[in-house]
Amino acid sequence: MKINVVQGKFVDENTFVSISNFLNRLFSKSLLKFEFHSTDYFMLNNFEEGYYRDEILKKIKLEEEIVNLGIGQTFDYFFNEIRNERMLLDINPSELVIYLTGEKNERNFLGWIDEEMKNCFINTMIWKYIYDDEINVIYPISYEIIGWSLRTLMFENPKELIDNIHFEKTTCLMSYCEDVREHQIKTMTASICPACSDKLASKNVNKLIMNDVKNSFEDIRRFIWNRENQSLYPTIQIKSTNGKIQFLIPDYGDIIIPMEPRYITLYWFFLKKNLGIKLSDLKKYRDEFVALHTIVNNSRFSKEKMTQSIEKLIGLSTDPVYNGKGEISVVKSKINSAIKKIIITNINQEYIISGEKMAPNKVLIDRIYFTDLNE
Ligand SMILES: [Zn+2]
Repeated sequence: MKINVVQGKFVDENTFVSISNFLNRLFSKSLLKFEFHSTDYFMLNNFEEGYYRDEILKKIKLEEEIVNLGIGQTFDYFFNEIRNERMLLDINPSELVIYLTGEKNERNFLGWIDEEMKNCFINTMIWKYIYDDEINVIYPISYEIIGWSLRTLMFENPKELIDNIHFEKTTCLMSYCEDVREHQIKTMTASICPACSDKLASKNVNKLIMNDVKNSFEDIRRFIWNRENQSLYPTIQIKSTNGKIQFLIPDYGDIIIPMEPRYITLYWFFLKKNLGIKLSDLKKYRDEFVALHTIVNNSRFSKEKMTQSIEKLIGLSTDPVYNGKGEISVVKSKINSAIKKIIITNINQEYIISGEKMAPNKVLIDRIYFTDLNE
């Protein structure tokens, strides 16, 4: 069975690629196959966060009238978007499309599906309100992608699905979560109740697929709730994915550390230099930086452009409007905060670039935890 996952509006690329890495790895040997379709629809969401905060945590049931005066898109709006994407991407009509979207829907549902059970959307924006900041949204979104794939195997249409939703127990995949924060209970138990398991069995859902799904739920549970017990020191990998050089953490499900090219160049440089270097001495390594930066940018730009970008970074720029200080401190702190968002426990101190201004700066981890797949 093949499932198409499409990057819709306001879904940023790092999140999308991380989800694709994660699910492809969980299901690498499965009969359940995910195909990911990147688009370039990402734009900054002008969603006013605080304003809706309380409102979006509560779902408006299907039989209830919408009282929020039309804030958010209708379900039909999303289904039309998906049908358009289906045509543009030339997806077989018999295949399921799961469309990820950062746009709010008027009922605050985490996701929903059309009458044919072929076009499904999942809200990617809401998770940060449901889970702690430290939990990366790719895990609950992946849970929902798998969940919706299963629901299409269990039910013929949304009505049958509604008739089988559990309003009491909140532990099963099929629980309703009127307060969307109850989603946490689902991922914490990672369970499918006996009634739902029977339903799946009665639909002759392949046992191997069911097994893979159960294992994937277990992995997601671990990634969300037992991060501290993860392999103590995760390995950081640098490699080219989707034509871009990026840092990934395979132990965390191939999650990408979101960094822009200059950050990648600087962090890569420090990972190569075990002994550390004073920030003021970085100027001596200009050519090495330019070479790395050219690789990071896939040789898309001229040497001149790469040199300019590096000279600004390490404080060699002769640009008249430039203040001569170099952007190094800012870039260093941006790199460090990106790393701390992904590696949440104290060991992150060993992964960041550390050191006082005048002392050598370095990344402390033993380099057995760094794999350079680009060499
Ligand atoms: Zn159930």
